[in-house]
Amino acid sequence: MVRLFVAGTGYVGLTAGACLAHLGHEVVCYDVDRPRIDRLRAGDVPLHEPQLGDLLSRVSPARVEFTADLPDGLLQTDAVLICVGTPARADGSAELTALHLLTAELARHVVPGQLVITKSTVPPGTNRWMAAQFHRAGVPARLVANPEFLREGSAVADFLAPDRIVYGAASAEDAQAAERVFAGVPGARVVTTWESAELIKYAANAFLAVKVSFMNELARVCTGYGADVTEVAYGAGLDRRIGTGHFAAGLGYGGSCLPKDVAALQHAARAVGRELAIVGAAAQVNEEQVGHVAGLLDTALGGLAGRRVAVLGLAFKGGSDDLRDSPALRLTDRLLAAGVQIRAHDPLALQAADRVYRDAGRRPEFYADPMVAAEGVSAVVVATDCPEYRDLDVGRLRSRMEGRVLLDARNILSPDAVSRAGLVYIGVGRGPQPPR
Ligand code: NAD
Repeated sequence: MVRLFVAGTGYVGLTAGACLAHLGHEVVCYDVDRPRIDRLRAGDVPLHEPQLGDLLSRVSPARVEFTADLPDGLLQTDAVLICVGTPARADGSAELTALHLLTAELARHVVPGQLVITKSTVPPGTNRWMAAQFHRAGVPARLVANPEFLREGSAVADFLAPDRIVYGAASAEDAQAAERVFAGVPGARVVTTWESAELIKYAANAFLAVKVSFMNELARVCTGYGADVTEVAYGAGLDRRIGTGHFAAGLGYGGSCLPKDVAALQHAARAVGRELAIVGAAAQVNEEQVGHVAGLLDTALGGLAGRRVAVLGLAFKGGSDDLRDSPALRLTDRLLAAGVQIRAHDPLALQAADRVYRDAGRRPEFYADPMVAAEGVSAVVVATDCPEYRDLDVGRLRSRMEGRVLLDARNILSPDAVSRAGLVYIGVGRGPQPPR
């Protein structure tokens, strides 16, 4: 058993805290957001993640505590896990203010030899910089770069069964010390330097972005030849050198990680005089993708202004309530700007979306039922890959709609089933675009 101090109670920190307590460690979860800590203490989980609430309620209160007091919470813990946010600045570089503030605080309070594990995604050189801060403060902490690879929507399952665990460390002893924390977790171990560990995380996310954009570009060629991009992606992806994951056309990638990690890697490359052409092209294709999909709708409806459209799904992916950098929201904004009246549904993110649009001049109308959202619309756009949309009763949907267009922006529906229901199916790169 290791006594752990987890700094940051977002998707990564709270998942790590709950899972490591579940594995038998004693965990103190710390956050600067006091209301968030109050909610957690009251048993309220402030984000949607399958199994997370269950896990937190099952581990004994003696094994997970919540605090907004760093010196007090840190006392008598063996290791610190840094899980604070590292969003993007306007120039694409990583915004490290939270990490810098936390490092300064930790440098005042850690004891020499205490293990500090960086889970946050940080640019190459950051852990070396942190080590220097601890050294300067006279507390040469043992620092391990341990990037996290979990996916929102399956965070607990991913944390407990990762493909690999990376330890970027200055010595084999430090990596071994970190292994005491993750000993109960399966997966390959990769022991590297700090900088390699930092770049492994960026390389992984940039490559996933490239796979998505590659398929989005190829989808346009599929349309030209009447091919179905879902078949092309599946057939090509079965090659084990390629893989089927993240190999799909749609609305493009989004969320709190891929876009900002792609930008941060490009920024880090430029800092050493390199331009990443392939990654840059992937980002460019992704920038265009929402506009491309909006164009499909425009063509199908013969113009957008004044139309009434149902958008099903607002979060950046199905199974999540996270709206950060959501392609579905970007599409919604684009359609609103074109004068479309939007009736929106999302199974998890409606409250959060309501907050996003609170002061907006043009805003969607929100509905808790997709069938109600579809009432009287010219077209329905499926904008996230929610399980509930995969099983959509398209016959019922048709009966609520005024028009006949169904734009499947995630390629999750069967074109045949949609056509049989009397709707005009439009996917992204699935055969020629039907005539109006
Ligand atoms: P998040 O925004 O959900 O949570 C970050 C938390 O850190 C917030 O609760 C915030 O209040 C807290 N915080 C800010 N400053 C703090 C400080 N000085 N001390 C303590 N707490 C502080 O972020 P997240 O999505 O959990 O991501 C955390 C890190 O993990 C990021 O670097 C991200 O890139 C990386 N990551 C995220 C995911 C993901 O799917 N969300 C996956 C892998 C890696």
